[in-house]
Amino acid sequence: MNLSKSLDDKIFATVGRVADEQQLDTYVVGGFVRDLLLKRASKDLDFVCVGQGIKLAEAVHKALGSQLPLTVFKSFGTAMIKNGEQELEFVGARRESYNRESRKPIVEDGTLEDDQNRRDFTINAMAISLNKRDYGTLVDPFNGIKDLEEKIIRTPLDPKITFSDDPLRMMRAIRFAAQLNFDIEADTFEAITEMAARIEIVSAERVIVELNKIILCDKPSYGFKLLFYSGLLKIIFPEMVALQGVQTIEDKSHKDNFYHTLQVLDNICEATDDLWVRWAAILHDIAKPATKRFNKKVGWTFHGHEDKGARMTPAIFRRLKLPLGSEMKKVQKLVRLHLRPIALSKEEITDAAVRRVLFEAGEDTDDLMKLCRADITSKNQNKVERFLKNFDKVEVRMREVEEKDKIRNFQPIITGELIMSTFGLPPGKIVGELKEALREAVLEGVIKNEYEQAFEYLLKLGREKGLEIVNN
Ligand code: ATP
Repeated sequence: MNLSKSLDDKIFATVGRVADEQQLDTYVVGGFVRDLLLKRASKDLDFVCVGQGIKLAEAVHKALGSQLPLTVFKSFGTAMIKNGEQELEFVGARRESYNRESRKPIVEDGTLEDDQNRRDFTINAMAISLNKRDYGTLVDPFNGIKDLEEKIIRTPLDPKITFSDDPLRMMRAIRFAAQLNFDIEADTFEAITEMAARIEIVSAERVIVELNKIILCDKPSYGFKLLFYSGLLKIIFPEMVALQGVQTIEDKSHKDNFYHTLQVLDNICEATDDLWVRWAAILHDIAKPATKRFNKKVGWTFHGHEDKGARMTPAIFRRLKLPLGSEMKKVQKLVRLHLRPIALSKEEITDAAVRRVLFEAGEDTDDLMKLCRADITSKNQNKVERFLKNFDKVEVRMREVEEKDKIRNFQPIITGELIMSTFGLPPGKIVGELKEALREAVLEGVIKNEYEQAFEYLLKLGREKGLEIVNN
């Protein structure tokens, strides 16, 4: 097959010309070829030459005008040129061999065939030649093109050896299946199931990259089910597996919280591409196993699972090597608050209750509402519609209250400094108490968050505490 007509970016002709000048057999390989055949957009380009990748990269860099950033990784024998949004990676064809004792492969110079043998899946092992002699020719030793047509993930060599050499490939198999909506070929999947425990030798940093890519798919439940059935999920994320199962006592059963969580995750993916809101969906019920109780009168309860879930979040993030800053805080907040809007939809909603949720959710209020909507997973469509309508009402109320009181980005109008200068106080507990009392008064609707009312109220609080006004 010749694909020269599909290579419409002029970079291919440039690399091909330079490769001929340097007398290096050169190919574009891997993800780009796969995505080209799938008609999927792909940004990064991997070039393999039979010879020194760095030498080719330097010559291409010169041909492109030398002003683009070039990074050379001497010890890996690779180089990268940043061409606007595009990253061009250059490497010499290599042969990899693994020995049982070491996780690191022995890397030697090799042929194109050696290079294709070390690739993870048949669909990722295709190459297109760029030399003039056979420009555009597809080199596909494992019939990857057929697997693309039949939507199959399969390793080029014995899957057990492929996975044992680099167990991350098990995660990658599932990631590609989830991204492309492919099946994993039976022997390949069986090998994953058999070798799942080997994932433990892979660093958490590499595992989370793949897990996050699964979470960012259109329908992540598919990837999670493959992780679950293969046994990988139990090793990398046991808290999630603990959600699975249904217990029955006295004819009362609770729902399977694993499948519920997957449904919530799929639902939220229709509403947002934000990885962290998707993580909040994954974690929203994570403390249900730990808080599960059976009560003869009411059946199963999971009291406090939202607070406990929020408390579990940092340790889970730390272990999975997810970021511990604002992203984790946001997920934690959404987990902690995920039941609050339901409460608002049930009761006669007071402005104060609405203000409190707006205050606590702040700028994440819209994401919180997305999570609540996604959390409705009843099979009864009437029920789903009724609940969604209730949330519509909650959101209308939120907008009304927000317009009036501007609570979402609440900034106290009376600062700590003003409190200290008014009463001649040093920094300390009492200043904190006064600030909190002012905030409570705004949330409860006793006063508006406006300077005059708030300052009057501060003076009143001061009098009650016997404070002397030194600066009015
Ligand atoms: P994406 O850009 O969506 O992550 P990709 O296939 O380009 O997909 P990369 O991780 O950039 O993924 O890998 C580029 C190519 O390198 C792959 O197509 C594959 O041929 C090879 N490859 C990457 N990781 C491995 C691995 N762990 N084992 C074997 N081959 C790999």
